[in-house]
Parts: sequence; C-alpha cells; structure tokens
Amino acid sequence: MPELSGFSFSYAGDYLKAALLVSLMSVWVLVALFFYLNHYTKRRYFTIWAAAWLFYALWLTLSLRYDPLEAVPDLVVLMRLWCVNAVALFLIWGSARFLGQRGSQRLFGLFMLFLFTWSYVGTYHMDSRLQCELPIFSLIGLASLRISWCFFGYRQKRRYIGAGLLSFGFLLWGLHHIAHPFLQTSEDFIGMGYFISAVLQLFIAVSMIVLVLEEARAVHQQAFQQISTHRAERDVMQSRVKSTEERFRTLFEQASEAIIITTLDNDLRILELNAAARRLLGLGSDPALDLSLKRFIALGERQQTALRSSAEWVDYICHHRPLNLVQKNGAIVPIESAGAPVSYADSPAQQFFLHELTERAHLEQQLRQAEKLSALGQMISGVAHELNNPMAVIKGYLEVILAHHNLRPETRADLEKVAQESERAAKLVKNFLAFAREKPSPQEMVGLNEIVRRVVELRKFAITLAGVELVLELDKNLPNTQAAPDQIQQVFVVLLNNALQAMVEAPLPHRLVLRTQVREQVVQATVEDNGPGIPPHLENRIFEPFFTTKQVGNGTGLGLSIAHSIVTDHRGRIYHQRPPQGGARFVVELPIISATNTPTGDGETAAQVTASKKPDSQPPNSPVKAAQVLVVDDERLIGDLLGEIVDILGHKPTICISAMEALDLLAEQDFDVIFSDIRMPVMDGQRFYREVSQLKPSLSRRIIFLTGDLVNEETRSFLTSTGNIYLAKPFQLSNVQDALLQVLREHPSDGTIPA
Ligand code: ADP
Repeated sequence: MPELSGFSFSYAGDYLKAALLVSLMSVWVLVALFFYLNHYTKRRYFTIWAAAWLFYALWLTLSLRYDPLEAVPDLVVLMRLWCVNAVALFLIWGSARFLGQRGSQRLFGLFMLFLFTWSYVGTYHMDSRLQCELPIFSLIGLASLRISWCFFGYRQKRRYIGAGLLSFGFLLWGLHHIAHPFLQTSEDFIGMGYFISAVLQLFIAVSMIVLVLEEARAVHQQAFQQISTHRAERDVMQSRVKSTEERFRTLFEQASEAIIITTLDNDLRILELNAAARRLLGLGSDPALDLSLKRFIALGERQQTALRSSAEWVDYICHHRPLNLVQKNGAIVPIESAGAPVSYADSPAQQFFLHELTERAHLEQQLRQAEKLSALGQMISGVAHELNNPMAVIKGYLEVILAHHNLRPETRADLEKVAQESERAAKLVKNFLAFAREKPSPQEMVGLNEIVRRVVELRKFAITLAGVELVLELDKNLPNTQAAPDQIQQVFVVLLNNALQAMVEAPLPHRLVLRTQVREQVVQATVEDNGPGIPPHLENRIFEPFFTTKQVGNGTGLGLSIAHSIVTDHRGRIYHQRPPQGGARFVVELPIISATNTPTGDGETAAQVTASKKPDSQPPNSPVKAAQVLVVDDERLIGDLLGEIVDILGHKPTICISAMEALDLLAEQDFDVIFSDIRMPVMDGQRFYREVSQLKPSLSRRIIFLTGDLVNEETRSFLTSTGNIYLAKPFQLSNVQDALLQVLREHPSDGTIPA
C-alpha cells in the first residue's frame, strides 16, 4: 500500500470487514428510509430505489463472506454480478420514474437479460475480472450520475438544499462505483472503497431526509398560504354578506309596506316585523317578537269557530278583504294582506305584507253609502210627495175650521191637538223632502267660520247648560265657499246636537272642539267631542236614514243622513273619524270656491220670497174687492180646500179638476186670479201656463202655482223662468191670503185693485 504524505492506508483484513459492515449498515438505513418515504409520500420511485438498495445490500453481504483478493467460487461471483446489475437497473428505473418517464417494460426486460447474460459470460468465460466488472459498475455509476442530474434539475427548479445535496451525493457515489473495479487490486483500496461508499450512502440518506423535510415544509407553507388566502377571501365574503344583510335589513326596516314574518305552526308567532308593521299594529318601538299574529286579527263569530289549522289562518289573512286588524290600543284598522311562504333560519315560515285600507276602504264605503242613500232617497221622496197632499188637506181644513167656525171650547182644544200633531207630521214630511232633495238650494258665497259661530250662538244656552267646555279653533284665513247657508247651518246643528247628547253619557269633563282649516282643495270643519264615541261595528250605519241608538223620542235617525245628503249636494264630504284619545270626530269638507267664479245661484225671485214671507204691508182683513178666482187642481180635496179658503177670504172661487176644463172655462169667462197645480195628468201646470199666455197674456202673470215638489229641479227652473208667485203644499190660510193680495196688487185687472 503506498504512503501518501505521511498517511498510511494499509489496514488489516479486519478493517476491510468493518468497512464492509459499516457500508452494509448504511445501506440498510437507506433501504429503511426509502421504504418509509414511499409509505409516507406514496411516491413510486422510492420503492424502486429501495429495491436497488436492497440488491446493493445483498451484494455487500455476498462480499462479506469471502476475501476479496482470493479466488471466489464462480457462482458467488455470478450472484454478486447479478446483484450489481439489479442495483444499476433499479437505479435507472427509479430515476426514470422520478423524471416522470414511464419507460418500456420490454426494453427493461431485454436490458436485464443482456446484463445477466453478460455477467454469466464474464464469470465463466472471461479471464479478466476487470474486463467483466468494468461495464457493469460503470452502469451503476452512470445510473447514479443520472440520478444526480435529476436532483440537480430538481434543485434548479425548487431551490431545495436537500436536492442539491442529493445531486452531489449521487454524483460522488456514481463516480465511486465507476472507479470500483479499479480499486479491487489492493485490500486497502477495497476497504477504503467500502468505507467511502458507506459515508456516501449515509450522506445520501441524510440528504434525502433534508429534502423530504424541505418538501414537507414547502407543502406546509403552501397550505398555510392557501389557508391565509382562504381566510382573507372568507373575510371579504363575510363583510360582503354583512353589508348585503345590512342593506336588506334597511330595505326591510324602511319599506313603506308593513312586513311580518311568522312561524308556520299553529301559533303564527311573529319572528320579524319592520317599522311600518310596528306602526300598523300600534306597537311603537316594542319589538313584539314571539307574540302571535292571530291576536291582532279581529274575527267574526263564524270565523272564530271555523279557523283551526295554520293553513286556514294563513288563507284567511291573505284572502279576506277587508281584514280587521286590532291595534295594541284596541282600535280597528281595515287592511288587506298578501303572503308567501319563506325560509327563516332554515325553518319554513310565512311572510305577510299588510296594507292599510283606511283611505280606500273609506272611499268605497262612502260610495256604497251614497248608492244606498240615493236608493233610499228616491223611495222617501216618493212617499213624502204622496203624503204631502193629504197633509195639506188635513192642515188646511183644520185651519179653516179653527179660524172660522164657532166651536165648543173642548172641540177646539181637541182640534188644536190634532193641528199640533199634523204640524209635526208635516215637519217630518218636510224633513223627508229635504233628505230627498235632488239639488242644493240657492247658494251664495259663505264663510264657514261665520256659519259655525252662528250655530254656536244658537246652541250657546244648551252648551252652557250641559257644562261643556267649548273650544273654537277657527282658521282666520279660511277661504270662502259657495253654499246654501241655511242648509250648512243645519248640518252643524245636527253635529252639535249629537255631540251634546252623546257627552251626557260620558264622565266629566265634557269638551267640544270646533275647528276649521284649509286642507288641499277644501275647507274643512271638524266637530269633536269626548263622549263615548261610535262603536266600530256601528260606524258603517250612522249615515243611514232612521238609524238611531237613541231612545224613542230622542232621535229620529235622520240627522246625519240629512247632513250627509246636504254636504254631498254641495260636492263635499262628511265622514266620521275615530280620534286616538276616544270620543267622536265628524269632518265636513266643502270645496274652496273663489268669488270670481261664483254662479249666480238659482235666482230666487222676489215674488217667491214674498210668498214665503209674512205680509208686511197689508193687514189680512184689509178690504179687498171680491175677485173671481179659478182653482185648478186634479186633487179634488185640495181644490175644494182652496176654494173654501178663497171663499173665507171673501173672493169667488171656481174649481176645475183639470187644466183642459179650466182652459174651456177661460175661453168663456174672465178671472182675476188663477191657482194652478203644477203636477197634473194630461196637461200639467207648465203647459197650462203656456196656453194661458197665448190665450190671455195679461192673465198669465196672475197665475199662482201650487206645488209640493219644490225640490224638483225642473219645477224650480220653471218657476224661476215665469217669475210667478207659488205656494208650497201644505199651505196655510195666511199664505193663500198673502199670495192673493200680492197678485191683485202687482197685476191688477179692472175692478180688482185692492183698496
Ligand atoms: P239621531 O241623532 O236622531 O239618532 P243621527 O243620524 O243624527 O240620528 O245619528 C245617528 C246615530 O249616530 C246616533 O243615534 C248615535 O248612535 C250616533 N252618533 C251620532 N253622533 C254621535 C256622537 N257625536 N257620539 C256618539 N254617537 C253619535
């Protein structure tokens, strides 16, 4: 063994064995490591390389038995060469897999066959051992260099230190095995070779561990990065979800429609509700969660028993219209509702959209009421007209009897009672006629404030007597409206009386507020009391004629219906409102009409006014020359009564029961005054007037018309166009006298001029 720079490499044979053993053990370390890595990383090339190391271990083990410098049996030599072949093959195969190359198994098999054949030939037929081993160990060396190249590439790609170390380790190991056949000449070199290979194998093992650790760390880092990225994405998503949820919550909360979400069980428990819903239920800021929606729904008796399951309830709430909602303070609000099933917190739920119907329902109700009242009005009008004539006859004759006959005092007293009652009946008929009016009376520009003040003045005594505190809140800048002042006054008299009557039943203090104000296009007056109020179930009925809750004698049930009829005729509205603090509030609205476009009204003539006024110039018994008076009325009794009155007044009556008959008579004879009914069969008063105008023009001015139908527009305009005097049935004796006097004075005919 040569000496190098003072170092001696000559070792004993035992040293060779020790080096072999160390190499063997290091190989087992590699085998174990590669099997473990395969198990751990599931990479196939680790198994293949583990197989290579196994064969390498086998080769070393076979080398252990024999002295390397002595002759070894050929079979052992052959087996050792085969092991080395296998090592080379598995290393190449493993590196191919490492590079992701599949490699042909057939080629691999053929190559193996060639190597084993070569080994066989080399063992048995070759003299030189070097000649035989050189190509085989060169193959191992090349395989190892190839692996070194692979790891070098890997190192370039991934910058792993372990890959660099492995590249270096396999490079040295490969070179070492290429040199191996040349080192077989001396025992020292052989021992040294085994030792170097042991060190290189341990180096490869450690490098492999370093690489796997680095890979693991890289995988972890990647995973960590992915987790951080996912976390950042999740945070973004969460904040998006949160802002979307906030947006939807704001939309939900601020929606003008009331929205309620309830459970779908039998309770219909409220899970969510928005501000509009809280307002509608009258809850203020109370969340009202967990309350049942059912407690806010007012049911009729029939539904109370009919509604059992939640489905029936939902169906009722969504389809019944109007639905009566009971607010927290007990007030009833008509609503309509729609609904849809939804999912709430992963459970089935029901969503309701509630819509307050107050304004619409109000208008619908007013329309229905107007229709009903109009039908009733027609009926009442007919009845009243039919009653009017008999009333006129009864009253007239009573007057005649009472005025001009000597009666026993008892009879007179009885008759006066009859007169009183007939007067009451006549008033009722007048009321009916007022209710059935088809057009408002003549109108003028009026201020609502003045009317209200006048009514208060009229009822001041009653208000003070009842101990009612009166509050007047009258808008000073209230525009005028056009109305028949007497009728509007009647409306407020009705409202005031009702309020006073209602408050009698309520505990003190009693308070009556009269307010006027401008609202959009209308002047509005409200009459509000703190009496017991009107129960919700009666609200729809109060404007019906004859509807009253008062005891017999206290109310006729006509007040509000007449008020309604008057206000509607003025193109206004009257309605009841339920003040939150209780009591009743009636609102009257009339259109604002400026003075410039004021129509002139229906032109009540001086003559008509005079006819209805008490005579101021002429005393009833002033001497008048007897006039020839023609009475034309298809109602014989009225004709007779008028004849009798005319007779009492000292004139000469002639009675006709038809206009035709009267015309015939007029052709033959002259009359000073004519009383003519307007409504007559065949020829009515209007045609009669035209005929007379043609026949005797001067006489046409002396016709006094009789009518029980002053509310009829046609009649009114006819009377206005003639300008003649008229008498409304039932008339009084004094009316007949006044009318006669006026005609005789204003349109005298020869010999009939009053003195
Ligand atoms: P009457 O007063 O003759 O009964 P109305 O038509 O004027 O007839 O009124 C009808 C009903 O309306 C009354 O019977 C009463 O029940 C009710 N009503 C009217 N005004 C009020 C009020 N201010 N407070 C309470 N109830 C009222």
